[in-house]
Amino acid sequence: MKTALITGITGQTGGYLCEQLVDAGWEVHGLVRDADDLESDFRGRFPGVTLHSGDLTSEASLRNAVMGVRPGAIFNLGGLSSVSSSWKAPVLTGQVNGMAVGMLLELAAELRRETGERLSFVQASSAEIFGVASQVPQNEDTPVRPVNPYGASKAYAHHLVGVYRRAGLSASSCILYNHESPRRPESFVTRKITRGVARISAGLDSTLTLGSLDVKRDWGWAPDYARALALAAEAEAGDYVIATGTAHTVRDFVSAAFGAVGITDWEPFVEQDPAFMRAQDAPNQVGDASRAREVLGWEPSVEFDELVRRMVDHDLELVRAASSN
Ligand code: NAP
Repeated sequence: MKTALITGITGQTGGYLCEQLVDAGWEVHGLVRDADDLESDFRGRFPGVTLHSGDLTSEASLRNAVMGVRPGAIFNLGGLSSVSSSWKAPVLTGQVNGMAVGMLLELAAELRRETGERLSFVQASSAEIFGVASQVPQNEDTPVRPVNPYGASKAYAHHLVGVYRRAGLSASSCILYNHESPRRPESFVTRKITRGVARISAGLDSTLTLGSLDVKRDWGWAPDYARALALAAEAEAGDYVIATGTAHTVRDFVSAAFGAVGITDWEPFVEQDPAFMRAQDAPNQVGDASRAREVLGWEPSVEFDELVRRMVDHDLELVRAASSN
């Protein structure tokens, strides 16, 4: 049986990765900030998953988890994942998203020296490392030039993964483009839109307030991105862009979400507020996942309209459940 240690197992993508590895027969361990708090929830959902208390800022707790579990693969999905929050906490973002990766890589290298066996390290990197990219679509050779503290922290981690790979560790950096699902927190624009549309459709709200509608993102289905991480652990180590290759604007997302509840004339329901506009925003993120297709055999499985519809349907269900209580 293969053994995985996942950081960020309570997050959107970590949860999907956990489910997929358990289904594939892996022994799964997760690093969480308070294992006692989550133990019964996880026990119910995943009888085989073992949780370990630890924080990405604590070398001692990372050492306990890595040396205690002795995994064959470490998936590092833990991190501060909000670009806007990273401006408010740039130092903590650097510690959690950047320096912790150095600690984990060094522990992985130490364990590999001890056992002499292959140990895969898979990093959840981000399209934000490219910032205002010099090319569209971006690929693994696009210059790394972040424009926000989140992107800078992920860029540092991305380079560290390359450093340890060149030193002999099977370390991969999956450069993930935006991926969404009903498990995305409401602080992210996609979920804010689908929740807002569900509430407007139920007559609970009359407006949805957003920032720029012109920002373009390459949005994919989160379980597909978890699958890419699992594939990377078993493949030749490298950098892999994970993206659909198609960009849509926030306006497209809004239109698709209202379309899913049968509202075509949606403009009267949407307000724009400069407070939600970000000064430094990568304007045109779209990824070329050719290498992932060739080497990992990875393909996205859910189209944009279907992704939006699934999120809206989920939020409609939540609205219905809340009103029947
Ligand atoms: P998420 O839902 O925000 O989950 C983040 C996870 O990190 C949570 O489990 C959180 O635990 C954990 N975490 C945060 N700070 C920690 C700390 N100090 N010590 C230990 N754990 C900590 O993120 P996601 O959407 O699943 O994304 C997973 C990874 O992919 C992240 O690294 C993100 O930056 C990266 N990524 C995501 C996207 C995307 O579109 N989703 C795109 C590119 C890259 P708690 O439950 O305790 O908060």
